[in-house]
Amino acid sequence: MLYQENQRSRHIANLQLAHEELFRLNDHVETLVRSRQRSAATLSYAASIENYLLNPSRHATAAMNERLRKLRETLAVSAIYVLDETGVTLASSNYYEPLSFIGLSFRSRAYFKQAMLGLPGQEIGNGRVSGRFGAYYSYPIIEDSVVGQAASQFLGALVIKDSFKLPLLGSALNERAALEDNSLSVVNMVGPGGYVVASNRDGWVGKVLAVDSLTGKDNRLCEFEGASYVTVSISLADFPGWHLLRLQPTRHWLVDPFSPLMTRTGILYVLLLCAVTLGMIGLYRRAAVSVRKRELAHKRLRRSHERYRELSCRDALTGLYNRRAYQNDLVREIQRAQRYGQPLSVALLDIDFFKKINDLHGHETGDRVLRQLARLILGTIREADVAYRFGGEEFIVVLPETDVAAAETVIKRLQAALLDTEANADEGIGFPVTFSCGIAAYQQNDTARELFERADALLYAVKANGRNGVRVQDW
Ligand code: GH3
Ligand code: MG
Ligand code: MG
Repeated sequence: MLYQENQRSRHIANLQLAHEELFRLNDHVETLVRSRQRSAATLSYAASIENYLLNPSRHATAAMNERLRKLRETLAVSAIYVLDETGVTLASSNYYEPLSFIGLSFRSRAYFKQAMLGLPGQEIGNGRVSGRFGAYYSYPIIEDSVVGQAASQFLGALVIKDSFKLPLLGSALNERAALEDNSLSVVNMVGPGGYVVASNRDGWVGKVLAVDSLTGKDNRLCEFEGASYVTVSISLADFPGWHLLRLQPTRHWLVDPFSPLMTRTGILYVLLLCAVTLGMIGLYRRAAVSVRKRELAHKRLRRSHERYRELSCRDALTGLYNRRAYQNDLVREIQRAQRYGQPLSVALLDIDFFKKINDLHGHETGDRVLRQLARLILGTIREADVAYRFGGEEFIVVLPETDVAAAETVIKRLQAALLDTEANADEGIGFPVTFSCGIAAYQQNDTARELFERADALLYAVKANGRNGVRVQDW
């Protein structure tokens, strides 16, 4: 988009430049026309030419020939010659050359016909003798000194020819070169039929262009000998059918030094784009890696946190939940029991005479007893029940959705299992073990503490009553 805009504005600027240079060339040609016609007029007014045409003697012709030769040098033109009223050349600046104009008739030339009408004329054409293209400027010679005559008499014409050598255009085109954004454009002087008469580029003179499609309208695209050009033309006012034509080569964006890819800014832009893209990819990858790392670290942290929580809730010796876990869990169980109106039993167990076991059999064995009881508890209770080592040789079993009678059955089965000496022996305990137990039931609006204290009171009652028993809350 930007490139197209840029190209468009460059094109418009070129178009303006083209117009300027063509109009300057046109001015140049017009100035030439004026100056030649002024010269022709000055000469024609010299009475000697009028007299000469009225009386063209051999002697007068010789003098006129020599005079025209000197004038041609002074004016630095290609030729000067005098035609009689029929268009035949009487005297010429090139009289001494093997091929001169003398005796040749130019009556069919437009510049002569113009003179016959009594008007200054000009024409661009091919010289019959020199073979060179050039501009002809004619001026009528009229006998106007005849007193009393109604119409003046046409005696003949004075003609000046400028051959179009490239320097003629070149002097103006040199200025053009300085104005051009590049020196690629071609400026041609094109005659009727598209014939290129003069050009600022080698090899264009003599080519024939499809003139109708190239002149008259600006900004045309045309193809010529495989290259494409944009044209600008102006017609030469003094020479009908003649044009100054400028052909600006169009460039493909790949080779256009102004195309976005070819300019230094364009290359920088592309490099910058690449750098930014690579940077973005790098950043994205680094971000992705860091996100993955963070996720991993987070996962590890969560796992260790869970492990820690698990550890902090467990009793190291028996593997049962500990007192802290009990306190958390019981509150939750109480809330649930209250919400759903379901029974909840709490059994508090205390091994009988444990101190004695330690004393008699050693701490090792005491620990074995603790582990054995834990194992038996886990083997006896249901999945929904949870056992805790409350501390020392005291255990708690929380039995949700269980009334005290059902809890008592469980505890009694446990007591029986602990008395099994065979099973104990397998664990390195050579004696039966008993415990006392108090079972409290959850009552509406109980706190955890109240519930525990009732179980503890029942346990105490069992101990006081000789141990190895269970007592349940009986309301
Ligand atoms: P009671 O029948 O009245 O409950 O008497 P007891 O001896 O069982 O009760 P007491 O509270 O007097 O003694 C408990 C003993 O348990 C005291 C302590 O040394 C022992 N004990 C506490 N924790 C552990 C432990 O982890 N391992 C061992 N081997 N002994 C422990
Ligand atoms: Mg105790
Ligand atoms: Mg005890």
